[in-house]
Amino acid sequence: MSRAVADLNWRGDSGSLLIRGARVLDPRKGLDESRDVVVKQGRIAELAAPGEAELPEGAELIEAAGLVAMPAFFDPHVHLRQIGEEYKEDLETGTRAAAAGGFCGVVAMANTDPATDEPETVAAMREQADREASVPTGFVGTVTVGMRGEELTEMAAMRAAGALGFSDDGLPITSARVMRRALQYQHLVGGNILLHEEDPELSGDGVMGEGVVSAALGLAGVPDVSESTMIARDAALCLHEDARAHVQHLSARRSVEAIEVAKQRGAAITAELTPHHLVLTDEEVRSLDARFKMNPPLRSEDDRQALIEALRSGTVDCIGTDHAPHATHQKEVPFEQALMGVIGLETAFPVLYTALVEPGIVELETIIERMTAGAALFDLEIPTIAPDAEANITLIDLEAEWEAGADGWESRSSNSCFTGWKLRSRPAATIVAGSVAYRQRAFRMGAVA
Ligand SMILES: [Zn+2]
Ligand SMILES: [Zn+2]
Repeated sequence: MSRAVADLNWRGDSGSLLIRGARVLDPRKGLDESRDVVVKQGRIAELAAPGEAELPEGAELIEAAGLVAMPAFFDPHVHLRQIGEEYKEDLETGTRAAAAGGFCGVVAMANTDPATDEPETVAAMREQADREASVPTGFVGTVTVGMRGEELTEMAAMRAAGALGFSDDGLPITSARVMRRALQYQHLVGGNILLHEEDPELSGDGVMGEGVVSAALGLAGVPDVSESTMIARDAALCLHEDARAHVQHLSARRSVEAIEVAKQRGAAITAELTPHHLVLTDEEVRSLDARFKMNPPLRSEDDRQALIEALRSGTVDCIGTDHAPHATHQKEVPFEQALMGVIGLETAFPVLYTALVEPGIVELETIIERMTAGAALFDLEIPTIAPDAEANITLIDLEAEWEAGADGWESRSSNSCFTGWKLRSRPAATIVAGSVAYRQRAFRMGAVA
């Protein structure tokens, strides 16, 4: 049984709208034509011939000729840093960044400070999102107490408090015994377990991907098998326990192969890719600029090609940004000392469009499908543009040109690995349940009826 995205916690309400004259593009519905989209009280009432729909009572008119209306994106993997690190980001700034990136929903990770490892914390976060979040926000609880990888949290009670699932993201679950127990509980309580796959014994003190570049720079590398062996272990455990899990941020060809094998064997496993792993390689690290330091690390061109192929084929189910804000003083230090992670919500679609769609490497339709599919990990309705569907719609100007970071960021942090990129395409407005969660400053909208 699926729930609507807007059932997650946010401060908005459903609204009524008429989006006039947009090119409506929803690959899941085989839809690509000019339409007027009529939205009443949060739901799509009608897809009318252009110019023919009447403005519903009290509805806002959006003149959208020249824009593409597509299902709004859903990010299954963000770090909002609340509670404990609000100097980097919080619910308000992080979800504003999400809305500006065309996302109608996000799922916040639990590696807060302290970790979100109790049902009361999950409940408190949801209440806070009701007051502060620009877009619907879901929360996961940690798998283990304090993310120490030893003792399971009260998973059933966290589910009852509204946790969408569980994750120790930021850290792997090293113990196979603990992982097995967690999967047994997942089978009982539902939700999903999101996995940061890494074997600390193999990663050692690596600070970048292991390969030609790490050897040339003399930096300690993280081998790809650090990720792929853990995926193989957990896929076997998932099958054994008839449990469900989701592998976050694949970085390597061998990881893609491990996912392929797991799916062939019938494991209930899904997988995710980030925009930065799809468009950048470890060559960037030659600059020793810590904006290119993340976990998992950037890898070789061969790995990147395997990720692109997995995106195309559907071996990888969805895109997640792993939006990970850090303060400047934590990034503008020698590479080895810098914290790992990059922000990504505001650039995700434009980067993928500029680097993969415009050059003809990946179809626009595929990007839209993978950027919306993350909702299904949590049994939420995948955003779609069809009568009766909840009106979660992003209006995108595919012709827009802008420089990433030139006007600053909605996020409180600026650790983007795309700063200075000349990007093509930009979200002009993001609509959640028929109400406008974001509009780009240059985008003038029509009058209210
Ligand atoms: Zn991670
Ligand atoms: Zn993460």
